[in-house]
Amino acid sequence: MDRIKTNGYERFLDVGRTLIGLIWPRTCLVCDHPIEATNHASALCVACQQQIPWIEPPFCGRCGLPFAGAMNEPFQCEHCRGLIFHFRYAVAAVRAEGVPRQAIHRLKYERRWMIVSVLADWLIKAARTWVDWNEVDAIVPVPLHPRKKRIRQFNQAEWLADALSRVVARPVIRDAVVRVRDTPTQTLLGREARARNLRGAFAVRKPRAVAGQRLVLVDDVFTTGVTMDACGKVLRDAQAADVVALTVARGV
Ligand SMILES: [Zn+2]
Ligand SMILES: [Zn+2]
Repeated sequence: MDRIKTNGYERFLDVGRTLIGLIWPRTCLVCDHPIEATNHASALCVACQQQIPWIEPPFCGRCGLPFAGAMNEPFQCEHCRGLIFHFRYAVAAVRAEGVPRQAIHRLKYERRWMIVSVLADWLIKAARTWVDWNEVDAIVPVPLHPRKKRIRQFNQAEWLADALSRVVARPVIRDAVVRVRDTPTQTLLGREARARNLRGAFAVRKPRAVAGQRLVLVDDVFTTGVTMDACGKVLRDAQAADVVALTVARGV
């Protein structure tokens, strides 16, 4: 009886949303086109949804870089073979191009806060597919420098970590790692310059909370991996038992 009632109620909501969508169409969070009435439950239009560049195997077992072609065994890519990372592996949901790139840009620089829920959905999909949560104790967001956070008014990594935490039932350790040095923007720098730029930029504020813990570090974008690596290093130095890097998007 209850079941029928719930289904009826859901159908009622469904019809209601469709009607509202016809009278007052919502717009796609990424491209501003009206969302199709038949697609009312989505925050994106059909065209944007279809253009999400999901990262599918094969991808590097270390740095998460996707490759074209078939590969049946776990492998490590050319780019990171000679590099030492302080995370065990990195995974991302989507390529940092097209729709995801636009979505992240709109969130960070146009402050379209609703977009966090879209990014969180992508992150959670990757988290469920590629991370074994039996091997994870807690989630740590990559920090922003307090000055940058004041300007932007939020740290998207913290919001993503909170959304993930609710789904995977692992706590978020806030301010476990902090940014002690503000660094110039990294966008135009190469890998080595980025690494130099970040030297001494992070510190662990809660060593007792992270010691012995298996952690998933969360951020929006993985570009060269130096940010994740710098955070991973201070966490491992503070005796964290394991660090995995999880991001919404991956530069390719
Ligand atoms: Zn769209
Ligand atoms: Zn690699």
